[in-house]
Amino acid sequence: MSCLAKNLGVVTHFEVCVCVMKNITTTVQVGSYSIGNSDFVVVAGPCSIESMEQFAETAEFVKGCGAMMLRGGMFKLRTNPNTFQGMGKNAFSIAREVKEKTGMPFISEITDPRQVGDLVELVDVFQVGSRNMHNYALLKELGQVNKPVLLKRGFSGLISEWLYSAEYVAKNGNNNVILCERGIRTFETATRNTFDVNAIAYIKQNTPFPILADPSHGTGASALVTPIALAAAAAGADGIIVEVHPRPDEARSDGFQALTLPMFENLMKKLERVLTALDRKFCRPS
Ligand code: PEP
Ligand code: MN
Repeated sequence: MSCLAKNLGVVTHFEVCVCVMKNITTTVQVGSYSIGNSDFVVVAGPCSIESMEQFAETAEFVKGCGAMMLRGGMFKLRTNPNTFQGMGKNAFSIAREVKEKTGMPFISEITDPRQVGDLVELVDVFQVGSRNMHNYALLKELGQVNKPVLLKRGFSGLISEWLYSAEYVAKNGNNNVILCERGIRTFETATRNTFDVNAIAYIKQNTPFPILADPSHGTGASALVTPIALAAAAAGADGIIVEVHPRPDEARSDGFQALTLPMFENLMKKLERVLTALDRKFCRPS
């Protein structure tokens, strides 16, 4: 039994997973960036793409501050079906133009295996949302694409279940899996989720996967995003994915947890100081 299986001793069936994980790489290449070495990756952008103006303004700003990749939801998987479900295909031309203008890689959520054909040309990384961590049909389909997958932790997902989900992608042929801790559901209600900083250190010490932290969904409050992003960096995260909006009051989703542009700039300055203390630096094109 490998050391990973032993560490997860309570989950006795876990050793099956470990065998496949031996083949998994520890760094994932996104364009000219390498995720999972000691350099720190910052992925930033709005929860949802809402207009050309909103996405372009956010993208130019975060790029200027040193973000390496853009995020922007087009297909949204919302808990409440009566809320904004994303612009869908209407966002494609916006995403394409902003990507070209900034030259930044782009990550967006895939919510259904039938979207692979449309998205594969547009996204550089497929995001699997928390609500889809157990969607094995989707995971198997993503095993067959040649783009990296950012696999968010289900909000009630055990670390062992999360790793099995990663294995669904890997076993079907795609070893380029990056994990993302985005907070879990606990008895606590003061914050939207409880960010599990243990998971960051645990994944780094016991598995070959790179891991990003999502302090936006992990806290659900813009004022808490910066401190938790710094904590994640200190715990060894390979980077963060963070929601930023030029006018959070007007956001069509998750405005309450979006950083304003000045807040993002401030986060980057603080992160740089923490990274320096850790002998690390921001990820730049290799
Ligand atoms: C998101 O990134 O906007 C999102 C919906 O995240 P999660 O799947 O973690 O809730
Ligand atoms: Mn969101």
